[in-house]
Amino acid sequence: MGKLRGNSAKAGAPDALRLLSRMKTHYSEFRFARPWPVLAALLTACAPTAKIPVTTTPAAANSAPAAQPSGSAQLDFKAAAEQFLTTYNQEYVRLYTQASEAEWTSNTHIVPGDTTNAGRTARANERMAAFAGSAANIAQLRELLAHKDQLTPLQVKQLETALYNAANSPQTVAGLVKQRIKAEAAQTEKLYGFTYTYVGKPVTTNDLDELLRTETNPGKRQRIWEASKEIGPTLKPGLLNLRDLRNQTVQALGYPDFFSYQASDYGLSRQEMMQLVRQLNDELRPLYRELHTYARYELAKKYHAQQVPDYLPAQWLPNRWGQDWGSLVTVKGLNLDAVLAKKGANYPVKQAERFYQSLGFPALPATFYEKSSLYPLPATASYKKNNHASAWHLDLGQDVRSLMSVEPNTEWYETTHHELGHIYYYLTYTNPDVPPLLRQGANRAYHEAIGSMMGLAAQQKPFLAGLGLIDPNTKTDQTQQLLKEALQYVPFIPFASGVMSEWENAFYAENLPADQLNAKWWALCKQYQGMVPPTARGENYLDPATKTHINDDPAQYYDYALSYIILFQLHDHIARKILHQDPHATNYYGSREVGQFLQDIMRPGSSRDWRTVLKEKTGEDLSARAMVAYFEPLMVYLKAQNKGRKYTM
Ligand SMILES: [Zn+2]
Repeated sequence: MGKLRGNSAKAGAPDALRLLSRMKTHYSEFRFARPWPVLAALLTACAPTAKIPVTTTPAAANSAPAAQPSGSAQLDFKAAAEQFLTTYNQEYVRLYTQASEAEWTSNTHIVPGDTTNAGRTARANERMAAFAGSAANIAQLRELLAHKDQLTPLQVKQLETALYNAANSPQTVAGLVKQRIKAEAAQTEKLYGFTYTYVGKPVTTNDLDELLRTETNPGKRQRIWEASKEIGPTLKPGLLNLRDLRNQTVQALGYPDFFSYQASDYGLSRQEMMQLVRQLNDELRPLYRELHTYARYELAKKYHAQQVPDYLPAQWLPNRWGQDWGSLVTVKGLNLDAVLAKKGANYPVKQAERFYQSLGFPALPATFYEKSSLYPLPATASYKKNNHASAWHLDLGQDVRSLMSVEPNTEWYETTHHELGHIYYYLTYTNPDVPPLLRQGANRAYHEAIGSMMGLAAQQKPFLAGLGLIDPNTKTDQTQQLLKEALQYVPFIPFASGVMSEWENAFYAENLPADQLNAKWWALCKQYQGMVPPTARGENYLDPATKTHINDDPAQYYDYALSYIILFQLHDHIARKILHQDPHATNYYGSREVGQFLQDIMRPGSSRDWRTVLKEKTGEDLSARAMVAYFEPLMVYLKAQNKGRKYTM
């Protein structure tokens, strides 16, 4: 995210951010959440000290939690579950809050050389991991879940969530967990400690990204691209080791492999998840095919190639993995910056709040303004802060905060609307019907989908004109605008739900042999992206490992693809069914009906099945239909441009 923003965010993972935040509470683009610090700190060998909510029964390791003494042989599992969950939720909130507070300080008050915060954060994370993964909790969860049929759906959902959380650090295999955490820390250190070099000089990944967006000499482009892949082989032994450790950790709780474990958070089997992502790729294929043809011919012109290649050379694309082509097109557009500069730095946050209020959401709690860190630090400050935008739910209650560095410009205008989307999602599912364990998005993709949608909506012309930020008669090139959006959003899908998901599925669940890792990667790039490397890439390289998520956010990259798909589905419904407006030119402002629609989706958190919620609110199952429809006007343009050109996909 050019720090944070909705759209451009998609691709580049914010490197610093990944290290700093592993909290569920902490959202920002491409930082999807786990229920708590995943990397969590090094678990100590000692036994968990957390209070284990025990129901009643005496001793025996396997004894079921008994209920009220009733004389009957039948245990009251419903009552036992209730008692267990009450205690569990209390302890969960307590530890979660401690860990969040520590992480918050680690992100907002960084004193170089001072490791006090880091130590406090690590200890808080250890306590959380030890509690969630404790052997006693796991035994109770399993026992209760063995009697699902006697429990309420809300109880079952909470118990399943707790068991899912436990699988990240099960103390039943404490040695293994400790090894995995250590191996993850070592891999992360390698990942961020690597020095990239280009023409003999050290460069950052930001430098390489910028060069790939701007360099026009094909030979230089190839060397830049190759420089960006040098890190790969250094990560190979660590990644192979992590595959085994990750698989074994979740296998201790009965999941077949790590990919299946991640998919289970959606209530899907591994096979169902793969079927879903393949379906999305199929639905978008005709549009991608047009963009692919268009890009091959346009780039061949740009780089003065003798011949138009059948497959896109990876080094031609303005992104290290070919996942975002947005910078290929520049749109002369609305210049909001000048207007916003005059409004001052308080305007974007306040205006975003007014927008949500106009939809029927409440004012933000006073503590939001008191406790958030919204603006850049003065140059004279004796400490630093993380400059990537994020939204936090510190206590799973009313303590919501945002970490931003707002300045009065377009980027921050969009970002404030995006981050407040997360904040209002937190506040809306914080209600008596949703127990703390289930105060999270309907699935991992919903939070980001809603935040990004609000950022997008707040930039459409009628919305801006309604606020008096632009002249309603401003002329813009609609086709170029739509083309740019398509280049940002569409190529991401074959990468995320195609290449990344297929490779990690093969890696974790299908035992992809160690001598076929790179071959598999490039076979998938060709199949899904129609993209090939500049020269043969043998197994002495490990190109998938150059993607940070492969190392430290494993087997859940489809989250990002799903968040786009959901974004377009919700926006399409709002535009066409609620506002009766063109999805390319909407104005959500002041619509209580839109607010009600959003609140209905947000209110249950993860206490209801995400598919049911989607179907109920939009009348549709998850599908790329809306995304395809949004870009339909562009299809006509692309087909005209591509007339007579050779299609190769
Ligand atoms: Zn976000």
